[in-house]
Amino acid sequence: MGLPRSASAVIIGGGVVGCSIAYHLARRGARDVVVLERESVGGGTTSKAAGGIRVQFAHETEVRFSLESIQVFERFKDEFGADPGYTKIGYLYLLAEPRQLRAFETRIALQRRLGADVRVLTPDDAKRLVPALRVDDLVAGVWGPQDGMAGPAEVTNAYARRARELGATILEGVDVTALEGANGRITGVRTAQGTLSAPVTINAAGPAAARVGRLAGLELPVHPRRRHIFFTEPFPEIPGPVPLTTDVTSGFYFRKELQQVLLSPGDVEDIGADLEAPMDWGKVEDTVQKAVHRLPIIEQARISGGWAGLRPLTPDDHAIVGWAPGRQGFFLAVGFGGHGFQHSPATGRYVAEWVLDGRPSLDLALFDPRRFEAGAGLHHDEADAE
Ligand SMILES: Cc1cc2nc3c(=O)[nH]c(=O)nc-3n(C[C@H](O)[C@H](O)[C@H](O)COP(=O)(O)OP(=O)(O)OC[C@H]3O[C@@H](n4cnc5c(N)ncnc54)[C@H](O)[C@@H]3O)c2cc1C
Repeated sequence: MGLPRSASAVIIGGGVVGCSIAYHLARRGARDVVVLERESVGGGTTSKAAGGIRVQFAHETEVRFSLESIQVFERFKDEFGADPGYTKIGYLYLLAEPRQLRAFETRIALQRRLGADVRVLTPDDAKRLVPALRVDDLVAGVWGPQDGMAGPAEVTNAYARRARELGATILEGVDVTALEGANGRITGVRTAQGTLSAPVTINAAGPAAARVGRLAGLELPVHPRRRHIFFTEPFPEIPGPVPLTTDVTSGFYFRKELQQVLLSPGDVEDIGADLEAPMDWGKVEDTVQKAVHRLPIIEQARISGGWAGLRPLTPDDHAIVGWAPGRQGFFLAVGFGGHGFQHSPATGRYVAEWVLDGRPSLDLALFDPRRFEAGAGLHHDEADAE
């Protein structure tokens, strides 16, 4: 299919965020929504996600995003006619310092007030959940039984399929190389296949969001940072299911994927790239060291593969969602860091409301694109697990 000449909204990026927005816009009756994806749908950083879904966030808006998204994953088959592979394996955080526990207690109070089920466990209780754990150096575990995982590819493809059924056009292999417009208004996009004009242009370019922002003359603080995940050969010595378990002190996390164990060192590395993240096999050593400390039996497992992806981080770990400052017609849905997959259902809904109704029904001030101009306090979240 060729590039349409116009659209009611054009979305740059066919990852989980762009496809969810397209679906929600189309579901709300927006006609002629177009998604332009430079490679293939879901082939960007969405394809690297661990699929984790948690209510355990530190800010009310993000907890609400999670609770709403979990409801969508629970009834996903009914809404999308596709199995997202959703399972409630839970999230378990392991805390080794009283300071960490105090920080978690504050957020647990918030999470519970909002209706989330989050519990503080003794180290022995944590070991009962995951018998392979070493717990003698821990002060507590924090367990979210509502948390879980689903398949990023399944979910993204389901959004895309439903969006198309509802009339949206999703084109692959179309790279947006420039934005059209003048006098502070963006009026469409330019590609090698031609130009497309639209009153609304949405930046959903994931790790390449800053590059797309520069096409509008904006400096967006979206910083792609590499993270690795390795997997073992089938390892029944750690029987599943196990929660997605994070060692807060080292950043290491693991979960089971069928018979294999997925292991991440929790690395955060600037490799100067925003599209591709080559693997560094040198990271295996660090991963195994952290893993063996927490899961001594893993010493007997063999690492059989792995991958790396770019997490689109922002200075305060919160996404950037809203109209771009000083650029009419240009909307930002970027900087989702390690939680863009799990928050995609709520993101799509509220962005569609914002674009179609003039405002979202939930206060999204936490994601205000202008907050960095004001020099908002920067705070990295230790529990930003994935
Ligand atoms: C190792 C790892 C583990 C993770 N684990 C989790 C997890 O457990 N749970 C979770 O919720 N999240 C997780 N994440 C984060 C999650 O993957 C991201 O937050 C999410 O996928 C971002 O989605 P996106 O649609 O914004 O980005 P993308 O999937 O990257 O989509 C953006 C798309 O835009 C396209 N694009 C870019 N520039 C252009 C252009 N100029 N023209 C046209 N198209 C363009 C790209 O090709 C890409 O497909 C993880 C990430 C990594 C790296």
